Amino acid sequence: MVGRKVLGVSHALSGAALGLGVAGFAAGWSGAPLDAGGVLTFAAVCAGAALLPDLDHPSSMATARFSWASVVAGRAVRPLSALVYRLTRAPRDTGRGTHRGLTHTALFAVGVGAAINAASAAWGAPVLLGTLFVCIALAIKGLDAIVPGPPSLLIAAGLTYAVGAWMPGGVDGTAGWLGTAVTLGMLVHSVGDAVTESGAPLLWPLPIRRRRWYPVGGPRPLRMRTGGRVETMLVAPALALAVFLLVLLVVPGAGDLALDLRDRVGDLLAARSGDG
Ligand SMILES: [Zn+2]
Repeated sequence: MVGRKVLGVSHALSGAALGLGVAGFAAGWSGAPLDAGGVLTFAAVCAGAALLPDLDHPSSMATARFSWASVVAGRAVRPLSALVYRLTRAPRDTGRGTHRGLTHTALFAVGVGAAINAASAAWGAPVLLGTLFVCIALAIKGLDAIVPGPPSLLIAAGLTYAVGAWMPGGVDGTAGWLGTAVTLGMLVHSVGDAVTESGAPLLWPLPIRRRRWYPVGGPRPLRMRTGGRVETMLVAPALALAVFLLVLLVVPGAGDLALDLRDRVGDLLAARSGDG
């Protein structure tokens, strides 16, 4: 049980780190920098989407600990994944394709993002609000192994409302990039699985060594057991530190806020020692 929670944490944190990096740096280079609210929203969506691919696992964070809706989604995703596997497998694909299948491919991640972008262009706010809510709720679920708290669906609803209220342009301000954030989050999940686990069929349906579901993976020594000690003691804390540093670095105003806080704490401590 503990391992599964930590796994959610690592996926969510890696999504947040990538989201912060892309929204903070790449959006700046493209000449359309996001404000603080935009960068944080982008990162939150990436963090939540980084749990989505495991909807094909019956007891993953995304499926089991979310709500009845995710259980239903999981029931639909596994047969779909198995069907696509059967239809497209090559001679040496001998698995069943129910876990780490379709949802762990780059093409599927790009397709989901493109579908969200197309749907939001056609129907606007309902699509944006729905996507924001699901991703923010998943991000909180993924992180609440380290931050246990009040009901995450309620917080997610509040935060989704906050995006609408405080972001320049409101929820419509996310229309240009929301699907892209989902794609990036799903990709970072599968790359994470590829590096640390038994691989992910990232390049489906390209034929590699007479397989179309070839599990792309890192060198064997790097792979660790799901939710193992390396992850708990090393990977998750390192990712948390990276997210913290990135927030200071790329979220407009966060660095100044931190310096200001430091000065105030310094003043307080100085005043204290002056009293004594
Ligand atoms: Zn996975």
